[in-house]
Amino acid sequence: MSKIICTSAIDGAVEWVAQADAKLSEAIAKKGENCKTGFPDTAYYLPIIYSLTGEKVETLGDMRKILNRAKLLLPQRPSEHIWLPYLGNALDAGIASLFACEIIEACKYCIGPNPIDGIWLGAANDIILRERGVEFVDGTAPGFAAITGAAPSKDIAVKIARQLQEKNLYVFMGGCTNGVQFADQLAEAGVELGWKTRLVPYGRDVSALIYALGFANRVALSFGGIKPGDFRGNLKYNKNRIFAFVLTFGEVTPDKYAIAAGAINYGFPVIADTAIPQILPTGVCTYEHVVSSVPYESMVEKALEVRGCKIKVTKVPIPVAFGPAFEGEIVRRADMQCEWGSKGNIGFEWLRMKELNEIEDGKITIVGPDITDCAEGSTNTIAIIIDVAGRKMQKDFEPVLERQTHNFINCAEGVQHIGQRDIVWIRISKNSFKQSFRLSHLGSILHASLHNDFGAIVDKVQVTIYTEKDKVDGLLPQARESFRERDLRIAGLTDEAVDTYYSCTLCQSFAPNHVCVIPPERTGLCGAYSWLDCRAAYEINPTGPNQPIQKGGTIDAAKGEWEGINKFVNDNSHRSVERFTFYSLMDSPMTTCGCCEAVMIIVPEANGVMIVSRDDLSMTPCGMTFTTLMATVGGGQQTPGMMGHSKRWVTSPKFIPYEGGIKRVVWISKNIKEEFAEELKAACERAGVPDLIDKIADSDSATSLEELLPFLEQKGHPALTMEPLL
Ligand code: SF4
Ligand code: ZN
Repeated sequence: MSKIICTSAIDGAVEWVAQADAKLSEAIAKKGENCKTGFPDTAYYLPIIYSLTGEKVETLGDMRKILNRAKLLLPQRPSEHIWLPYLGNALDAGIASLFACEIIEACKYCIGPNPIDGIWLGAANDIILRERGVEFVDGTAPGFAAITGAAPSKDIAVKIARQLQEKNLYVFMGGCTNGVQFADQLAEAGVELGWKTRLVPYGRDVSALIYALGFANRVALSFGGIKPGDFRGNLKYNKNRIFAFVLTFGEVTPDKYAIAAGAINYGFPVIADTAIPQILPTGVCTYEHVVSSVPYESMVEKALEVRGCKIKVTKVPIPVAFGPAFEGEIVRRADMQCEWGSKGNIGFEWLRMKELNEIEDGKITIVGPDITDCAEGSTNTIAIIIDVAGRKMQKDFEPVLERQTHNFINCAEGVQHIGQRDIVWIRISKNSFKQSFRLSHLGSILHASLHNDFGAIVDKVQVTIYTEKDKVDGLLPQARESFRERDLRIAGLTDEAVDTYYSCTLCQSFAPNHVCVIPPERTGLCGAYSWLDCRAAYEINPTGPNQPIQKGGTIDAAKGEWEGINKFVNDNSHRSVERFTFYSLMDSPMTTCGCCEAVMIIVPEANGVMIVSRDDLSMTPCGMTFTTLMATVGGGQQTPGMMGHSKRWVTSPKFIPYEGGIKRVVWISKNIKEEFAEELKAACERAGVPDLIDKIADSDSATSLEELLPFLEQKGHPALTMEPLL
């Protein structure tokens, strides 16, 4: 640590001990050594001293003994030439200061001035401790902010207090800047102070901060089962369980340094608005110890980040009900206020990992028209960009978090979300619109849910929703490139190379019997989950919807059927599906839920299959549009001859190999042809028919069976001469 801090903390500690000495001598002179002392209505004596040393201070004379101990803790001030890389000395100085301050405050109860005065509340009694301390344990309150000094203006003070309250933190206040305290500023602005509002003004003096730390010690004693005198246990409990930090405003004088050093012993970092020397390497605290020159707007956020404080948003702040009960709810056209995506309008969602300093947690921006600006019943474009940062976040987690959007948004009453990536379709009901649901609430849902469900890896979430067509069109290529990169990561990994596949049961909230099983060479039918993504999801949440499945004994290598997979599928489909093959369309194909990117159906007349993409709205040669096909195959059923799948799967070497692979494809939606042009070319070459892609019809060459068959004849499509499908 820097020498400046160390010397400041030691100077401060020396000052505190001297002050305590003087105050105690005055008290003893007035009341005598045997005068009873302590804080009112508590069984914990002077709690910092009691919890860290086990000493029960009951008289002024007892305090004398403790003060002598504090003196012994005072380290030597480092000479001008010695560089001290360790915190040890400052930490000892910090503890000595806390003992001294506790003595000073206790003497005030004995000889005045009375710590309880005006807005100042002094020590909390054990009734308050039981009522409030339990909140630190059950998670109702993640912790507290100990504030010393005064903000530059009362408006800033109010803003910061509100931010802390919103995060359910307690605000403990003590110590002034030029005679003014943060609590004075709040009181002046008409803010209600007290335990009820969690804004607790302990005292005007810096020494009053010991009430905050003593409270933390008492929580460890009474709720953590830590024994008095077990200082290591007590400090460790605080570091691990109480998410507290110190916010200092204004000049940090040696007396404040010394108390701050005391707080660092608890693992409570110090966030300062002024340019005090930083202590960035981690050690005692979870992350950094002292972070300085933090702008006011970001002090709370910075503090939470440095303390590693995970925020739970207990109530998702939206004007409609929110919960899994609404997940499967459908918004019918007649009930719909408006919709985004579908019918040729672009709708996409894209979650990106960012650096912590690049984004602002909770920031939600709408660029373009909101629901209020859209005509009733209209279909519009939308891009939802979710930026996520976290110390434990990894690029590999992007697709996993992004795929949750579907479930998160569907939890809102009267809001329907279908699809993923660039085929997102969202509807908002008239009723929810009337209850003031707006597009920004989609952001609120994502912010709250990502924090709540993925708090272990997510520290910040920022959402930007674009509804301006130009902007959406402009961003789409970048998103698609990122989806492509994600897909390509898995290139080269084969089904044979692993003995574990992964399940995905995320869609069971909509299709209760549906199970996706994902091998390396086939993404989930939504196209958004690859084998790697499932592995990452399992790493994040080992009890979640993505479980490793041992393939087990081989039943049929050509069809791709394994004992382990069959057992898992049967167990997890409520026994509605007995077996799965991976490589066949005709014999027990995988089940299909509502989110597949494409659907495949046999065309017996052509002895082949055709593939219709979700973004293809036109009539197809089988006489059905995508929507009609989905109505036939979706919902978690197993339908031989028909199957939902991802677009990319068509290009995989494991695309229905049992039926002959890509050579069976007689018709395909044009957008798949275009989007996967390169990969399809490679697949056709691999199949030994390099010009196959030109022999496969699309909507330009055929929209009916009557048009399809002559086209295939004319091109000499290989399916016509392959082994009969049926
Ligand atoms: Fe998971 Fe399959 Fe649903 Fe995709 S479609 S989220 S892989 S269950
Ligand atoms: Zn699904």
